[in-house]
Amino acid sequence: MSYCVNCGVELDATAKNCPLCNTPVINPNEIKKEGAIPPFPKERAQVDEVQRADFGWLVSMVCLATAVTCGVLNWLAFNGSLWSLAVIGACIVLWVVLVPAVIYHKWSPYVYLLLDCAAIILYLYLIARMIGNYGWFEGLGVPLVICTWGVMELLTLASRKFLKGILARGLYGFTALALLCVGYEIIIDLFCENPIRLSWSAVVLTVCIIVDIAIITTLSRRRLRNEVRRRLHF
Ligand SMILES: [Zn+2]
Repeated sequence: MSYCVNCGVELDATAKNCPLCNTPVINPNEIKKEGAIPPFPKERAQVDEVQRADFGWLVSMVCLATAVTCGVLNWLAFNGSLWSLAVIGACIVLWVVLVPAVIYHKWSPYVYLLLDCAAIILYLYLIARMIGNYGWFEGLGVPLVICTWGVMELLTLASRKFLKGILARGLYGFTALALLCVGYEIIIDLFCENPIRLSWSAVVLTVCIIVDIAIITTLSRRRLRNEVRRRLHF
């Protein structure tokens, strides 16, 4: 029986180095059993951490399996309508929203927004195809998605390039909300062939302008700004 000269741990007869501190084992009285199997494994057995790519694979496979099985089921069994297009479209949107953001997380957020916009338009197109009516898709669906996308890009641009912090975010958020509501009302008026007149969106716009003015005033007065910081702990 040998003991490590450095740390004192009891050594197995096969050990050439101390398993604890790696000090070479030299015991002239003990004959080494060449080729004997050591009583402990040489390699560290550790479970690898889950990578982003693994999560991406899982989502991809679940989306693909759902889309394909529903497509086949629609084709072979329940073929009264094109219902599977709705499921396939939802899978595409889910995939586009989750996977590029998870795996290619170095891309610019503007690219993700553009991809999300394209996926949602494709989804709406599939629904329009499913029900055989494209009027709402062209007149309402696509303009609403593009309007939302444009405002989201502006919101992203503002929060990356200009002022940061909770007050600035509130300012951008309320401005985006106002722009969205005005845009939606104009699009709906155009779709219904009504004269363009702001009614409900004008109410939202007014409230947002008041809130924005309050935020801008707070941001521009140092004492007010510091008081908000102090109360919100940031
Ligand atoms: Zn040792």
